[in-house]
Amino acid sequence: MKQRHLFLASPHMSEEGYEQEFVKQAFDSNWIAPLGENVTKFEQEMASKLGAKDAAALSSGTAAIHLALKLAGVGPGDVVFCQSLTFSATANPIVYQQATPVFIDSDEDTWNMSPAALKRAFELYPNPKAVIAVHLYGMAANLVEIGKICAAHGVPLIEDAAESLGTIYHGRYTGSIGDYGIISFNGNKIITSSGGGMLLCNTPDATQKAEKARFWATQSRERARHYQHNEIGYNYRMSNVVAGIGRGQLRVLDQRVEQKRHIYEFYRQAFAGIDDLTLMPMREGEHCNCWLSAVQVHGGKVTPAMLMDALELEDIESRPVWKPMHLQPVFAGCPYVDNGGVAQKLFENGVCLPSDTKMDDEDLERVARVVKHLWEES
Ligand SMILES: *Cc1c(COP(=O)(O)O)cnc(C)c1O
Repeated sequence: MKQRHLFLASPHMSEEGYEQEFVKQAFDSNWIAPLGENVTKFEQEMASKLGAKDAAALSSGTAAIHLALKLAGVGPGDVVFCQSLTFSATANPIVYQQATPVFIDSDEDTWNMSPAALKRAFELYPNPKAVIAVHLYGMAANLVEIGKICAAHGVPLIEDAAESLGTIYHGRYTGSIGDYGIISFNGNKIITSSGGGMLLCNTPDATQKAEKARFWATQSRERARHYQHNEIGYNYRMSNVVAGIGRGQLRVLDQRVEQKRHIYEFYRQAFAGIDDLTLMPMREGEHCNCWLSAVQVHGGKVTPAMLMDALELEDIESRPVWKPMHLQPVFAGCPYVDNGGVAQKLFENGVCLPSDTKMDDEDLERVARVVKHLWEES
């Protein structure tokens, strides 16, 4: 019997059909586009859920990072400190703004931006315009230390919370802790609107900042009957239909977090006997959304490539941990502040295991069998 394909992460709509209800409302009112009630409500519901001061719904997480950089005043010739171990979407908008990224290595205990390396970056490259820390796979960056460093230098902190929606760090949701936070609703994220993003503003003047982001996102159209433009704009706004899916998904976010955490816990128990396999770390004071359960493979008996090959043979999807930006040809020549090559090691030894919330325990058992078998036979 052919077993079904197991995904890394796939869209998972609510059993209740919330998403279709909100989409139907958009159809019934003919507010298919551009804006409408779903967009405004989605922003309000998300800001209130996460404890952010204001939010702007956008066409992607990448667009949200771009506008966060603009709000932080990043422009041509500026420097931005950016976590190296991440997806390229974190760093690309720095270049859209004709600024230079300085890539920062990670810490082993969070996999995210190393505060020690960040401190060194401030000594080497003074006057950056912004710092972008990422919460990879749902794990929170060390925002206590990073926040202190940014505050001491008066530099805005942008949280890339694209992968960590629902993660709670010291009592607060990631994305609502730094000056700006960004979320993604791309198809593989913990909740999806079929594609989209949100910018969270937490500065004292958050309302004005979010308003400015919405303005830029709608082609910088001034308040005038004719089309008046005093600034360059973008077509970055979320549509009312997309926002309807997002609102429905928000209602199952807590459930998805618990399902993802269950997957992590299942793997943790299943692999407890394999010394050469360690799951990504969980830290005190953090309730991780466990978007993807990632592991580190050590010892050399089984390599990450062997692990991914074995899973693929069983029609099970997996993939390497992100390749750091300072190792990407497109960013060759950008400065990098090292912390002992942590990001590179995490990449070379790292594998993301299937973390799809549509899997049941039988599916997870299937994954675990393939993994355990590798260590048993060699
Ligand atoms: C998905 C992702 C983004 C980009 O979000 P999009 O909505 O796909 O533009 C940014 N940063 C990280 C870390 C991501 O995983």
